[in-house]
Amino acid sequence: MDVHTLSRKLLRWYDRHGRDLPWRRTSDPYRILVSEIMLQQTQVDRVVLFYGRWLKRFPDWRALARATNAQVIRVWAGLGYNRRALALRDIARRMTREGVPTTVEGWRSLKGIGAYTAAAVSAFAQGARVLPIDTNIRRVLGRLWFGIPYPDAKGDGRLQKRTNDLLPQHGRFAEIPQALFDLATDVCKKIPQCAHCPMRGDCKAAEKFLSGRVRIPRQMVKRPAERRHAGKPFPNRIYRGRILKLVRERGRVKWSEVGPTVDEAYNPDIDRLWMEGMITQLIHEHFLSTHQQVISLQGVSQKRVKHVKGDKTA
Ligand code: SF4
Repeated sequence: MDVHTLSRKLLRWYDRHGRDLPWRRTSDPYRILVSEIMLQQTQVDRVVLFYGRWLKRFPDWRALARATNAQVIRVWAGLGYNRRALALRDIARRMTREGVPTTVEGWRSLKGIGAYTAAAVSAFAQGARVLPIDTNIRRVLGRLWFGIPYPDAKGDGRLQKRTNDLLPQHGRFAEIPQALFDLATDVCKKIPQCAHCPMRGDCKAAEKFLSGRVRIPRQMVKRPAERRHAGKPFPNRIYRGRILKLVRERGRVKWSEVGPTVDEAYNPDIDRLWMEGMITQLIHEHFLSTHQQVISLQGVSQKRVKHVKGDKTA
């Protein structure tokens, strides 16, 4: 199919149905990167809530580069997977020393930036004519071009080779990935709504879906299990978040107090090793530090601890 026809159909749909998201109103590499890191493993609606707050506290690379671990984690609180926040701060430090990359390869060379994020920042902030392929774009294009109902990352090379079939040489090519994200979210979902799709006349998978001949893989229906301790109702991720919240609110907490506070069914005979393992892991990951059987957020001075103790906003 002609690239102009395909992109025109997509953009026409995007003009009517696209989402107005705050990071789509800027071309500042810092703001774009913040959004991309937040969007990794977090829903768009949730990121919208936190994005403005983060930018108010850390408006640019310099402000973020100055932040301690504790300050970063405090503002990130609620987004989960705190490692992302620390990686972002480390990138900010590098940017203030070495300047901002101007190529996909330059972004890709930064720790914590994968192929997708490097392409996304280059495209959305710097006008590079590249196609960031994430799980959403892979799903739409894998179906559209190759008729694969549930494509996986092995086919990304084939998709990249067809960038020219999708991105016009000039004009609105940077909006094509945004349009694909929205199409993937609203229409070409895991279980697609082909009857409402503007691409159905050109899509190699549409007929299979519309005729009901596609079997839905089990993993699409059932989420893979997260790590959890025997008998506990929540995965470890939830208890790790509670530990960090507790320390953030109190400033200093004895090791022995953590278990009974974050887990109402805590039984030291059965759960102590599990709980200490999570605390130790958080210390190894530089979120917490420990001294004389007391833990605190890493990088929090005594003066800071007093402030944290009185702060009810966390
Ligand atoms: S026709 Fe169906 S499978 Fe093809 S792109 Fe649209 S929603 Fe996805």
